[in-house]
Amino acid sequence: MNNYLKKVLEQIGQRNSTEPEYLQAIHEVLTTIEPVIEANEIDYEKLAILERMTEPERVIMFRVPWVNDKGEVIVNRGYRIQFSSLIGPYKGGLRFHPSVNLSIMKFLGFEQIFKNALTGLPIGGGKGGSDFDPKGKSDNEIMRFCQSFMTELYRHIGHDVDVPAGDIGVGGREIGYLFGQYKRIRNAYEGGVLTGKDIVYGGSLARKEATGYGLMFFMREMLHAHNIDIKGKTVTISGSGNVAIYACEKAQAMGAKVVAMSDSNGCIYDPDGIDLDCVKEIKEVERGRIKEYRECHPNATYIEKSGTANPVWTIKTDIALPCATQNELILEDAKTLVKNGVIAVGEGANMPCSEDATKYLQENGVLVAPAKASNAGGVATSAIEMTQNSMRYYYTFEEVEEKLDRIMTNIFKACKEASEKYGLKNDYVAGANIAAFTKLAKAMKAQGLV
Ligand code: NDP
Repeated sequence: MNNYLKKVLEQIGQRNSTEPEYLQAIHEVLTTIEPVIEANEIDYEKLAILERMTEPERVIMFRVPWVNDKGEVIVNRGYRIQFSSLIGPYKGGLRFHPSVNLSIMKFLGFEQIFKNALTGLPIGGGKGGSDFDPKGKSDNEIMRFCQSFMTELYRHIGHDVDVPAGDIGVGGREIGYLFGQYKRIRNAYEGGVLTGKDIVYGGSLARKEATGYGLMFFMREMLHAHNIDIKGKTVTISGSGNVAIYACEKAQAMGAKVVAMSDSNGCIYDPDGIDLDCVKEIKEVERGRIKEYRECHPNATYIEKSGTANPVWTIKTDIALPCATQNELILEDAKTLVKNGVIAVGEGANMPCSEDATKYLQENGVLVAPAKASNAGGVATSAIEMTQNSMRYYYTFEEVEEKLDRIMTNIFKACKEASEKYGLKNDYVAGANIAAFTKLAKAMKAQGLV
């Protein structure tokens, strides 16, 4: 391994030894950009490019006290990682999930810098959230939590400073409560301070659909480059949240057959093809569990999750779309998918494939669409939402979707060209990292030692 890379990896390992997800994200990026570091077009070591790119500009951690419906005081922990403002205001979602910790926040923030650079839009990288668990909470509890969270967060954000959005556990309802509290504290309507807003108060059409649709646009381009038509292909999807639902919708519109979806308890397999209206009713309206799908489709099978392997990856498929969470597709799952003849894996979630799973898939000829590129449609459309807020003018659904399609097509092209430039044909994981890194390193050199 290149000496500079080795030295930096060792330093980061020592300094962040209790943060496994963060180290995983760093390792994946740094090892794939080795040919760029070797070429040394910029003196990376002298300018400490890697050391600076892997250290967040600012980490904010705060107390979030709130009162539940029983009148009890609960104290959660809030985070905002302002990782990089190199090419625009910090931008990235908020995650509310009990697993949230500093390591997960930092890995998400780090990946966000690269993803945002790939969109070609002026957005830096950030991420935030809380270990608050929205599951089973009443609307009033969610509102009180969001208000308390924003009462601290508001002083750190702004439409030219840091623009949060949704992620796991944070959808339209939560963004609404957060925005309401921000507006109340600031006594000003600053629409571009949060994205993922409802259409009626400043959101963008097609933002809700954007991550899932974007994933399918990227997948279409990747398959097309290998002369494969998506029409008629079988698709399995993990998760049944925002990304999964709209990936399913676009996959079906492209003529593919989606046969499985999941949640954290298990998965449903419907050989006739998933009835998405039924899934939307369960997840978007009733906020229920995926196993309830069998109430409208008794012929479907429900497989409860047990052990480490995810049951959704045991189902034979041409295309697998992990759209739930990090490290949800491990080596064991990759082996099953390959054995069952999978052609392509498209990452809708962030870092859903473990590093050895990705390697195994690629070594066995499976096309892998890396999250930083393939799920960038959400943040790209968030940037389009910010543009509309600044213009005080709204695009139609078709206009936003057309822009999204163009952005995703360009991202695929950038990944392909970057991988080919360094002799890594078909390695879109490396291609995405290289394309983003090259741009960020140039910006870092231009802005001096900050
Ligand atoms: P949602 O909260 O809407 O949905 C998450 C889905 O994943 C749910 O079905 C949930 O099941 C499942 N899930 C969550 N945690 C786990 C777990 N530990 N094990 C198994 N299943 C789990 O989130 P999103 O759809 O917004 O986000 C999904 C992924 O996509 C995340 O990795 C996120 O970072 C990424 N992403 C999201 C973007 C967006 O625009 N929303 C943009 C780019 C990336 P359950 O309900 O049982 O918890």
